Amino acid sequence: MENVLETDQLGKRYGKAWALRDCSLRLPVGRVAALVGPNGAGKSTLLHLAVGLLRPDAGAVRVFGESPYNNTAILSEIGFVAQDTPLYRDFTAAELITMGSKLNRRWDTALARNRLAQLGLSPDQPVGKLSGGQRAQVALALALAKRPKLLLLDEPVASLDPLARREFLQALMGSVAETGTTVLLSSHLLADLERVCDYVIVLHSAQVQLVGAVDDLVDSHRQLIGPRHGDAPIAGVAAVVRASHTDRQSTLLVRTNGPVTDPAWTVREVTLEDLILAYLADGAAPASHAAWGVPA
Ligand code: ADP
Repeated sequence: MENVLETDQLGKRYGKAWALRDCSLRLPVGRVAALVGPNGAGKSTLLHLAVGLLRPDAGAVRVFGESPYNNTAILSEIGFVAQDTPLYRDFTAAELITMGSKLNRRWDTALARNRLAQLGLSPDQPVGKLSGGQRAQVALALALAKRPKLLLLDEPVASLDPLARREFLQALMGSVAETGTTVLLSSHLLADLERVCDYVIVLHSAQVQLVGAVDDLVDSHRQLIGPRHGDAPIAGVAAVVRASHTDRQSTLLVRTNGPVTDPAWTVREVTLEDLILAYLADGAAPASHAAWGVPA
């Protein structure tokens, strides 16, 4: 399957500290991907590298097979909504739409106008006078009017109330379903992401912890509950991602490489939220060198 975004050992450094390190991932076309991680994990850095605002210090990033840095042809295919939806606040939505039409080749003025009308937003009011949720909707309408093949959104719903968040994500999903745009959306609101995303990238401390299709990841992980566990291998378990113990009992979140049939263990399915939290837990190791492994 074609990949819209590919990174190979991508790194970005500020001084001596790596904001993103050894980041290798693929985002296939048509996916709606969640980019998840705590503050400072490197999410904005990855998005800024993907949109060509930053130049890598190590490795490579490719969007539609090309480096996005200083690449205007690629930039015309990417829509980007930065954190806090920074619109020119004295401009009205109508003026921003006109500006977009002058700056972009494939601009769809009707799409932007229709979206604002559907939302009941006046195109003639300065956007600085709109609520945070309304401004986010205007920013999304403008990003979609560019008709991007890849849409990058940096914490678009962080400052919105739950109702505005839901409306924003519904609007996003509606247009993505119509256009087939690939989306990469950073957020720390797991419940929102679970509803809208079918692909996930988990970052922690500048490194990728987990990446893949939600269905595959949920299928390949299980929670095991059983007697207190040391480090003996368990048939069907490729790696223990997270373990917690009481005196007599262990609860493990594991990556599997086959069915776990040992009757000592109660086996439960996991949710995306369980998985993300396990990979984000303190001390979680990158997926490729997980805590310990058992040969298949
Ligand atoms: P996130 O978006 O996940 O919150 P960022 O990508 O913004 O994380 O930041 C990753 C790391 O890089 C953080 O430790 C942050 O302090 C650092 N960082 C980001 N931008 C700069 C900058 N312009 N100068 C110095 N350090 C930065």
